[in-house]
This record gives sequence, C-alpha cells and structure tokens, in this order.
Amino acid sequence: MSTTLKIDNATLAGRDGYWSVAMEAGGIIDVARHLETTAQETIDAEGRLVIPGLVDGHLHLDKALLFAQHPAQTGTFQEALQETGSLKRRFTIDDIQSRARQILENEIAFGTTLMRSHVEVDLMLKLTAMEALLPLKQDYAWGLTLQLAVFAQEGITNQPGTTALLRRAMAMGGDVIGSAPYVDPNPSDNIQIIFDLAEEFDCDVDFHLDFLDDDAPLLLPIVVEETLKRGWQGRVCLGHMTKLAGLTPQTLKETAAMVSNAGISVLALPATDLYMMARKDTHNVRRGVAPIHQLMNHGVITGIATNNVQNLFTPFGDGDVLKICTLLAQTLQLGTVKNHIQCLAMATTQAAQAIGVTNYGIAPGNAADLVIVDATSASEAIGTAPVGRTTIKHGKIVSTTQMQRTFLSPEVSIKG
Ligand SMILES: [Zn+2]
Repeated sequence: MSTTLKIDNATLAGRDGYWSVAMEAGGIIDVARHLETTAQETIDAEGRLVIPGLVDGHLHLDKALLFAQHPAQTGTFQEALQETGSLKRRFTIDDIQSRARQILENEIAFGTTLMRSHVEVDLMLKLTAMEALLPLKQDYAWGLTLQLAVFAQEGITNQPGTTALLRRAMAMGGDVIGSAPYVDPNPSDNIQIIFDLAEEFDCDVDFHLDFLDDDAPLLLPIVVEETLKRGWQGRVCLGHMTKLAGLTPQTLKETAAMVSNAGISVLALPATDLYMMARKDTHNVRRGVAPIHQLMNHGVITGIATNNVQNLFTPFGDGDVLKICTLLAQTLQLGTVKNHIQCLAMATTQAAQAIGVTNYGIAPGNAADLVIVDATSASEAIGTAPVGRTTIKHGKIVSTTQMQRTFLSPEVSIKG
C-alpha cells in the first residue's frame, strides 16, 4: 500500500542524520532514517528542519488587528482597557470575522495547525463574538484545528447576567470555559463559577491568571484547590502567570510542584507580558515573563502563545508563533541547543498538551500536522524565524511560503 505523502531527508530537532516521515489518512504512519515506501507525493526536504505544526494555544481573534483603526495615544494599560472596551461596543460580526480571517490565514501560512482562541462573552458584546467565530472553525478546518474558549473578560460577579450568557455560548458550541478572575472584585467566586460551568458542560478550563506585577496575593492556590477537588487534573490551562517571575527560586520550585501535581499547564505570553509588565519601574525595568523553562524543568506542562496581535494591549506581531519563540528565548536568556529544542517543544508538542491535545508530535500514530522550516537546526529556526515554510495539515500540504529576494546591484551574485 502506498502512502499519501512522504517527506525525505528531513532534519528532526534533537536527532542526528536525515529522516523520512510517511503519512496516510491524516496521521503519521512511519518515521525512520530512510523509508523505501513509495508515496503519491514525496517532498525532498533537502536537510531542512521538520517540526510538528505550531500551536497557538492562547489568542484573541476577536480583538486582533484593532491597532490600525485605533492607534495608542498614551500606550498605557489604562488606555488599553478603556479604549478596547469602547471599541468592543462597536464590534459587528463582519468586522470580527474580517480581522479574524486575516490572522487565521497568517497563522496557517506560518505553520500553525492547532489554535485556541478566546471568545469574549459579556454584557457589552453578548454573543456577537461567538456568532462571528463559530463558523470560522469549519471554514478553516482544512488548515488548522480551532478550539473556542468562551471567555468572561469583564468579570462575572460584578456583571449580573454574565453567567447565563456564558452558558448560552457553551451551548452554541464553545469548547472550553474561562475568565480573568483578577478583574473581578470577587476572584474566588469567579473561579468557582467557571469550574461549575466546566462541570456542567464537561469541558476544560482556561484562566487568564496572576497577570500584572502588583502585591496582591497569587490566585493560583485557589485554582489548584478547585482543580484537585473537582478532579479536573489535566484539564486546566493558565495564561500569563507573570507573577511567577517575581518568586524566589525556592518558592518557584514549591509552586511548580503544586502546579505539576494538579496537572495544570501554564502558557507564557511574552509579547503582551513584556509590553505590559513593570510599567512603574523607572529604571532597570523588570521583564515579567513567567519562567516557563524552569517550570518545565520541574515537570509542569508549559507553552508559549501570541495572545494579542496589533491591538492596544500588544501593538506588535503577525500571528507567527516561531517569532514568539525567538522573543521568549531572548527574554529568558535561553541560548543552548538544548534550550532551543525545549523552546520548539513549548511551541508545538507541549503547547498542544497544555490545551488538551495529546496525539501531537513527529511519531507514528500522531496527527500528520507538520511544518517544513527553511532552517537546518532548531537553533537556526528559533534564531531567525525564517520566512520559508510549508504547512502540512491532516497529511496534506495546505500552504507554502517562500522568500523572494532580488538584488539590483551587479556586485551581488546571489539570486533567488
Ligand atoms: Zn489573553
């Protein structure tokens, strides 16, 4: 029996030599040094790096690309909160969809094959964002798997009626439930309500948690307690966790053990966190990115994600998870080959596991979701986030991007 698609001469992160990867019926069926099997289509990777499809496990499609319509005047957190709130009041289904489509297409071209987008559900927007994003799951299923996390951004206990809206959004087809407890005057009740809904809909939980750098105590112990009490181990993902950057090594170790024991995963969002944290520091400004490499070493499932793209919370980015890897490696000072392989895992297999997907990675039996990157090693991929990429989803090539460079000087001999 011939396979559908085969890649030959691939470099795989952390393995010597060149490899073949055979795919059939949307899955990987074989990975070996050299496969003689014939395939309907064979790609010669010519030594280029093949990685699992990139995973963007925490993104806000509904708030993406707002910066062009509304540039920052002061660039403060207060402005971001206030102005995004007033922009939200004017969101329409068409407007959300047209911005979301641009990001989804960018992400597929960059190599993202799995994504979790938060979807704001509150008294202002009601179910508009859910109505806008739900059809896009199917529209883009050819290129990426999209999970929708129903998200109470504005608080719950301070916004009567929100719980009923969250319930309706879940009934419409939400995959995951979540909130930002730090904006709620009663964060503990906020967390309880989200877990109650998770039990009601038997779904995973995703909190924006312990974001900012103030002196308020960590909310993490409350989430850990609820996770264990309700048997939700392996089903809770936390985004930001910037306050972990301020813990001493010993406290971080103890915290990591607690998080790992509860089967809770953590996603760092460095593009937003670097931009938003430590705003009161007048000099020697702190970085405020969760030390996820240390958490990973202590057994926590960790990953990275883009969070916001070109809005007031993060006026930067294009939806490329590999560029976020570069940023993370620079911020956390991750310079070794081992570190870079770890960073790639945080952008692929670990990030997938963080959002509940376990059949991910380059091994037989896993999803045939891969990216061929124009680099010859993990370090080069992390260091340069190269333009050239081929995205494979369900064992089919769904996108190719190549760099075209033309020199107009006769002194330069390189073309292509
Ligand atoms: Zn977020």
